[in-house]
Amino acid sequence: MLYIVATPIGNLEDISLRALRILGEVDFVLCEDTRVTKRILDYYKITTPTISYHQHTDAKKENYIIDLLSAGKDLALVSDAGTPGISDPGGKLVAAAIEKFGEDIKIESVPGPSAVTAALSISGIATDRFMFLGFPPHKKGRQTFLTKIVDSEYPVVVYESKHRILKFLDELKKVNQDIIKHNLMVDEKRSKGIAMNKDIESKKSLITSVVVCRELSKMHETVYRGEVEDIINKIKDSQNDQKGEFVVIIGR
Ligand code: SAM
Repeated sequence: MLYIVATPIGNLEDISLRALRILGEVDFVLCEDTRVTKRILDYYKITTPTISYHQHTDAKKENYIIDLLSAGKDLALVSDAGTPGISDPGGKLVAAAIEKFGEDIKIESVPGPSAVTAALSISGIATDRFMFLGFPPHKKGRQTFLTKIVDSEYPVVVYESKHRILKFLDELKKVNQDIIKHNLMVDEKRSKGIAMNKDIESKKSLITSVVVCRELSKMHETVYRGEVEDIINKIKDSQNDQKGEFVVIIGR
């Protein structure tokens, strides 16, 4: 049995009773970082042995884990925070287990917190449909990533770290400036009766509603809502607001 167990994204009380029972019952807990998970296990007096499993885990270690499952051991996979597999390692092990055992393995989810759903739930943006894009790429593919956000008809959710949050928000601001320029150009050509290529003839809608959630469920949880520029100024105004973990929701 392989359990994929969600753990808190900040507040240690945000863990289900079932997750605690399973973490206590399995033979091993597979952890992204054993020191991080130890804090939760110790807090709940769970003494199950841990094994590290992360994005750099090599094939040999992965085979060892598969061998444990072959031997009938029950394992629980957790990440440092939230739901394994959501911008986290985890999916690879699930895929490897399915490939090895097919129908003969039971993989169960033990649902719980995830920063994406926590942020959406308090955003105030209509979120019956949304697009989750995870972390923006650092270099290659960044422009395409921004274009996907602009072109999305649904709100877009992005994860960002304290190191790059202002850079990302500045880029969103620049996207808006480009949209304004584009729309002016379309207006001008229309007024002069100049024919336009199909790709550029339609106006684009500005990003007017952004929600930035910082440190969800933690002591310094902060939510900023409104225009990108105002949010940038608020975050720039306080060194403390530039610390922590961020989720950005881009509405229209
Ligand atoms: N698996 C996790 C989940 O289910 O949300 C996400 C892991 S990903 C490596 C870490 C990123 O999630 C952070 O950089 C941040 O963007 C977001 N995140 C995690 N915890 C958060 C929190 N408490 N507040 C805001 N964002 C958070």
